[in-house]
Amino acid sequence: MAFRREYSRELGYGIGQKGKETVEKSDHFKCKVIESNPLTPNVFELKFAPDRPLDFKAGQYVSVIVPAVDGKPLRRPYSIASAPGVSPIELCIQKVEKGPGSNYLAGLKPGDTFECVAPYGYLTYHPRPDKHAVFISTGTGIAPFRSMVLSEEFRKSPPLSTLFCLGVRTDHDVLYETDFISHPLLKWIPCLTQSVGRVSEFFKGRVTAFLESQHSQFAWSETEFYLCGNGAMIDDVRKFLKGNGVDRKAIHVEVYFRPEAPPEQAAVK
Ligand SMILES: Cc1cc2nc3c(=O)[nH]c(=O)nc-3n(C[C@H](O)[C@H](O)[C@H](O)COP(=O)(O)OP(=O)(O)OC[C@H]3O[C@@H](n4cnc5c(N)ncnc54)[C@H](O)[C@@H]3O)c2cc1C
Repeated sequence: MAFRREYSRELGYGIGQKGKETVEKSDHFKCKVIESNPLTPNVFELKFAPDRPLDFKAGQYVSVIVPAVDGKPLRRPYSIASAPGVSPIELCIQKVEKGPGSNYLAGLKPGDTFECVAPYGYLTYHPRPDKHAVFISTGTGIAPFRSMVLSEEFRKSPPLSTLFCLGVRTDHDVLYETDFISHPLLKWIPCLTQSVGRVSEFFKGRVTAFLESQHSQFAWSETEFYLCGNGAMIDDVRKFLKGNGVDRKAIHVEVYFRPEAPPEQAAVK
């Protein structure tokens, strides 16, 4: 019987409900940093080589072991941004103020090592050559979708058409533009929430506003939707898709985080 292993910030990994896919086998890896490069002012890519082949499906993630500062080591999940079979493996990480995981990885230099357990995750590509696909991410939520659209599986079995939306604040926050702008199998749509820089080249507004703008021309029930990143965006998009009759089985989701409630809201909960 196949059981789904689920990530919990408090408990780590445990056996969860019966799922449609099983994590085949996760294993412990020692990884050597090959490169660390800034992609935007707040996001960097980390390229690493595991101590032996790490097999994963496009869209899956590694669970990085963050050494203990006080108390116990922590675990933080990071989606693999490179395609399966490509070496070195790439992560794409947002630096979070005072965040132990992201700052630990940001401090690693070429030649340093870190440990992780991998692969994990259910947000994988579902080849449906008879359907369209829409990938929607905010910020580093682009990572699993980059892995998917650069994968051989996607190239061999692409959807009828693909829209690839990335929600960020300004044009300085746009990630991996060169990979997507000329990708032959997709339409690349960065959505900017602030009117700064090269605004005329991109959609001005949130990803939900972009979807609303497509309302009349879209084959909603003939499309697979992939959502990743900020939980608030995912809630809004899900609600919108539900309102347009999209079957929940056609919506594939990975929530990276939920924005913290302001102190006054947290107090009344
Ligand atoms: C399955 C999965 C895959 C993930 N993959 C990635 C990835 O590829 N790249 C990545 O940058 N993060 C990713 N994350 C988030 C990552 O695991 C950490 O939560 C994040 O790096 C913050 O950890 P921290 O220890 O630095 O800070 P913490 O102290 O744990 O976090 C502080 C706060 O930062 C906010 N936050 C968390 N992640 C982000 C983010 N990405 N952008 C903006 N604010 C954030 C949240 O409000 C969080 O409560 C993923 C999360 C999940 C569940």
